[in-house]
Amino acid sequence: MTTMRCFHLTGFGRALVPVDKPMPAPVGSEVLLKVLAAGVCHSDLHISDGSIDLGNNEVVSFESRCNFPFTPGHETSGEVVAVGPDAEGVSIGDKCLVCSWIGCGACSFCQQDQEHLCTNSRFLGVNRDGGYADHVVVPHPRYLIDLGGIDPVSAAPLACSGLTTYSALKKGGPRALLEPVVVIGAGGLGLMAVNILSIMGGKGAVVLEIDAQKRQAALECGALAAIDPTLPDADQQIRRAVGGPIHFVLDLVGSGQTAAQGFRLLDRGGRLLVVGMFGGAMSLSVPLLAIRSATIQGSYIGSPQELRELIALIQNTRMPIVPIDRRRLEDANAALKDLRDGRVVGRVVMIP
Ligand SMILES: [Zn+2]
Ligand SMILES: [Zn+2]
Repeated sequence: MTTMRCFHLTGFGRALVPVDKPMPAPVGSEVLLKVLAAGVCHSDLHISDGSIDLGNNEVVSFESRCNFPFTPGHETSGEVVAVGPDAEGVSIGDKCLVCSWIGCGACSFCQQDQEHLCTNSRFLGVNRDGGYADHVVVPHPRYLIDLGGIDPVSAAPLACSGLTTYSALKKGGPRALLEPVVVIGAGGLGLMAVNILSIMGGKGAVVLEIDAQKRQAALECGALAAIDPTLPDADQQIRRAVGGPIHFVLDLVGSGQTAAQGFRLLDRGGRLLVVGMFGGAMSLSVPLLAIRSATIQGSYIGSPQELRELIALIQNTRMPIVPIDRRRLEDANAALKDLRDGRVVGRVVMIP
């Protein structure tokens, strides 16, 4: 093959455009993979919109981060088809999950395996071409994790939604495993959280979700309960389902409303962990933070090491049972639209 196909984002708010370009030849430590599966993530919508609503009439723009045109896609699994002369430890035919969270390599975050927090990042699908393509170039074999027999399609979402929930659950400490966790949102991240919590050996999740179909999906994934948070007696129902003090709330939606509800639910010593970026702001009783000895913490993706841990954990236990909505890469625009309109249960994975 002399050309590859990719889907370009040419500007904010625009549809993706299919482009054929010359097949890249990997140089140095680069590795070329044939894409086997490309997960579609909510943050792809933020990237294509170009901004996130910070609440209080403020927005943050991705203007300075995106270099148009580029190929989105940061949940990629693929098969190695060519390696650069300095790429060691990978062989043609290896099936791998791509860790898209690539930092500058020089800052203090990068030097402590926290590349996902690098402020000069080179994330695949964000600042560099990603997986919405039939081939992708990865700069170094250390960003490839051998799938070891795991299905590449089910594995693709682990690179972002799996890693994000795993890293967030780890931040809950031992209590996240010893007591039921309250999980806000049963989208792709929420279903992943229910599953990964179970794989980690946790007691389980009480899920809050406004959409009845998604509540059903959460129960099918093994949630202890799935409750509509807008019901007048929602808080009592949640407390009954948890069956004890609430010490850990994971907000995977991240709106002003959900974070406020999450904080309100916390008992003494509790932690609200915000992962979602739906948008908005919350107001907060400051004395209650002290009285409850509460912690409000954010969590953004997870480290390359945590992704390796997650894959090893899954290889020793089982793959998360998250419904996968398979699409053709050719239908990328329709897939993004369905995700935006809330018509997706589980995760969308596109196959080139
Ligand atoms: Zn993502
Ligand atoms: Zn860095």
